[in-house]
Amino acid sequence: MLKQNLNIPGPSELPLEVLHALGTQMVANRGDDRFSRALEEIVKSTQEIMNTKNEILLFTSSGTGGMESAIVNTLSPGDDILVCINGEFGSRFALIAEKFGVEIHRTESGWGKPINLDAVQEKLVEDHNKKIKAVFAIHNETSTGVLNDLEKLGSMVRRHGALFVVDAVSSVGAVEFRADQWHVDVAVTASQKGLMAPPGLSLICVSDKVWKAAEEAKMPRYYWDYRLARGLFGKTRGVPDSQLPGIPITPSIALIFALQKSLALLKKEGLANVYRRHRKISKALRAGVKALGLQLIADESFASPTVTVVLLPDELKGEEARQILREKYNIVIAPGQKKLHQNGIRIGHIGYMDLKDIIAVLTGLEGALAEKGLIDQSALGMGAGAAHRTYIAGE
Ligand code: PMP
Repeated sequence: MLKQNLNIPGPSELPLEVLHALGTQMVANRGDDRFSRALEEIVKSTQEIMNTKNEILLFTSSGTGGMESAIVNTLSPGDDILVCINGEFGSRFALIAEKFGVEIHRTESGWGKPINLDAVQEKLVEDHNKKIKAVFAIHNETSTGVLNDLEKLGSMVRRHGALFVVDAVSSVGAVEFRADQWHVDVAVTASQKGLMAPPGLSLICVSDKVWKAAEEAKMPRYYWDYRLARGLFGKTRGVPDSQLPGIPITPSIALIFALQKSLALLKKEGLANVYRRHRKISKALRAGVKALGLQLIADESFASPTVTVVLLPDELKGEEARQILREKYNIVIAPGQKKLHQNGIRIGHIGYMDLKDIIAVLTGLEGALAEKGLIDQSALGMGAGAAHRTYIAGE
């Protein structure tokens, strides 16, 4: 079987060192020095990546589980929240909260647009009685490839006094994230994207305000209870094993060793270099897409460094383009979501990727366009060339 390129917005391919770490023998999840060290390193590295002094919790779960944990630990049924929606993952936050009987207020932006900050400001200013308990937002909206400005949003929420809950699943590890400076109370991320580990771990950054909210929150919870989850990390905070609250679960030891390794690799490359790499390859990809006469749905000023949504001409449906890339080029890209399913494709460039990955995708796209007669064969290389030149020109 030939090598397949995985260009979806997570899970992304794994560095060899991370794959090897997955093959580690099991150890006891309490009292084993190597395991304690892995947890300690994960906490420290995640704090560095998120630019925070807040506590980090870890669940054996996907990112969606982490999103649910943020709701059940901070709210009671009937509470009011504001969800800033500019795509599918914003809607998911609202959907989960709705299931738990929360009263949802929304701001909505058109697809491919960032969160409407004026609308958020208006809703927060109108809320004289401070009914809104928390504001929910997505840092990088993976369905549309839009990076939201959390600095401005965080200041607005801070002035109002609500909790600020952020889904940073498709940004952390690939895009700068400043939890403390942006006044983020709960930040949720997951292992399988920028952090270059397999799916299966969610990481939650929790502010002091949340510990108080967790005591007051009346949502039923057991597995997701932050107060119990904290037990796993007691040792990293200097609390001896004997005094920890019970750890409610057996954590995924293999994934924890894999994440320890992938975080070490990010540190070795240097976070500033990692972020620059994502900015450069995403900018190059957008230049290549435009050179092929295709449309991007997000404006350059807020385009995501980790995922790009491309609109195809009517003559080439998204499904067909994905099939040609998969079958003829061994490249897997993701379908457009919801209203972008027919004509859209999503190209992931998050995690363990560099210029050659996006050059390969552009080559596949050129092939698909040529196969449908939408470009001449003499135009092959046009997108890849434009991307390469943009990359060389720098940021
Ligand atoms: N939020 C965002 C922004 C995402 O991109 C994703 C995954 N695509 C999720 C949440 C959900 O994560 P998971 O699939 O790990 O549950």
